[in-house]
Amino acid sequence: MPKLYLLLGGNLGDRILYLQQARASIAAQVGQITRSSKLYETAAWGKTDQPAFLNQVLEVQTALTPEQVLQSINAIEQELGRVRQEHWGARVIDIDIMFYDDLVLQTQRLTIPHPQLHLRRFTLMPLAEIAPDLVHPVLGKSIKELLEACADVLEVRVFEE
Ligand code: ADP
Ligand code: MG
Repeated sequence: MPKLYLLLGGNLGDRILYLQQARASIAAQVGQITRSSKLYETAAWGKTDQPAFLNQVLEVQTALTPEQVLQSINAIEQELGRVRQEHWGARVIDIDIMFYDDLVLQTQRLTIPHPQLHLRRFTLMPLAEIAPDLVHPVLGKSIKELLEACADVLEVRVFEE
């Protein structure tokens, strides 16, 4: 079964609860969660006048196609009350596809691997925790190597629940 890596993030309301609810919906609708990273806290990316984000990466065994995964995670975001606002703006939950096996895909609605994952410490740190040796199918480098080379200066730290 294809192995999917999802990045969850949110910076509004009860961040821990929204992540919990997102994990429950993902397990019910997308597939079994086989690994999950700790929670990581990060200053807001791209905008600095808003609360800090909590992020988490999940490894999921899914029987869905990438398009079906996108539909499903969009539905979960809406279910959890996400109001589509400004880009990089505050939101209760954002779910993005990082990898889908070693698939490389670029359509109008979907880019896999996620085009910014190698640029963002808040993505690479949780990924490195659960999949350090995973090789990026376009860049040809492991997550560990990408993290070492990452120039992102935003502080990311493990969040103690
Ligand atoms: P962002 O995640 O960039 O903060 P949104 O969550 O609003 O913003 O996503 C905008 C669009 O990005 C989605 O409607 C989706 O079609 C598209 N998209 C492209 N590639 C991906 C991906 N790998 N994972 C999730 N969404 C993606
Ligand atoms: Mg998104």
